Amino acid sequence: MTVYEACPERVEGKGAAQHCRWTFLNSLSRVDMNTRISHKSPAIVLYCLDYGESDRIVTFYTSDFGKIKGIAKGARRSKKRFSNALESFSHGNVLFYKKGRGTLAFIEGFDIVDHYANIREELEKTLISSYLIELVDKFTPEGKKNAELFHLVRNFLGLINAENSLDVLIRFFEIRLLKVMGYEPVLDRCTMCKKPVNEKISYHFIVNDGGLRCNTCYQNNSSYLDVSLGTIKTLLLGKEIDMERITRIILSDQIAKESKNILVSLICHLIGKEIKSLHVLNEIREICI
Ligand SMILES: [Zn+2]
Repeated sequence: MTVYEACPERVEGKGAAQHCRWTFLNSLSRVDMNTRISHKSPAIVLYCLDYGESDRIVTFYTSDFGKIKGIAKGARRSKKRFSNALESFSHGNVLFYKKGRGTLAFIEGFDIVDHYANIREELEKTLISSYLIELVDKFTPEGKKNAELFHLVRNFLGLINAENSLDVLIRFFEIRLLKVMGYEPVLDRCTMCKKPVNEKISYHFIVNDGGLRCNTCYQNNSSYLDVSLGTIKTLLLGKEIDMERITRIILSDQIAKESKNILVSLICHLIGKEIKSLHVLNEIREICI
């Protein structure tokens, strides 16, 4: 006998019924008679590693449970349970159970939703998606839910798969990631005097402050990054613009360079080290893309 439990999340007002139905379908848990509770959640595969003769160790970022690491027994043999889809970037629904905190989950199944064929076939898209995945992995502890982050990764993988304006996608993903993780850079005012950005004043970006300093508050002995008004406006836009309009944005060379310096420097400062996949992307681009 199997019993299904709906997710207890409550939503009120218009759309509540539809949300509850969606939540039931997508987050329902299965309780077996031996009290083992299986969970189902939308998920993106971050990393996969072959283990033994037929198993795989898989790291997922799930919508309902955050980052989950687990073992998929027989994954390389069972098309039925895993659809041959346990590979980085795959989007689907994972079914798993876990015996306790800090232990590997047991992955019971994975239904594919999107395999992102273009990401797998085009080298630059593969490298950029690897960078996104590494950022998600570096910024998240296991087991902490952040549904907004899940939707961000899923939406950007979809855009990378479908579109060719790749640099603007990288930069806007970075700034949105910083925002949903609580590290949004301060770009609308000076971090010292708090005065709003004024078009008549020049600014510097101070990585240690996580934001701008106006010319008056800037001290010559601080290390800083150049930031023009155009870059400030572009990054502010990147945080809020609708997903379907992102690929209409074209970055000038100056804005692309300043945005990359600011966001990558801030991310490396927060993580405390270089991001390997970005290093690989930069090297490959210099050689052959
Ligand atoms: Zn100031």
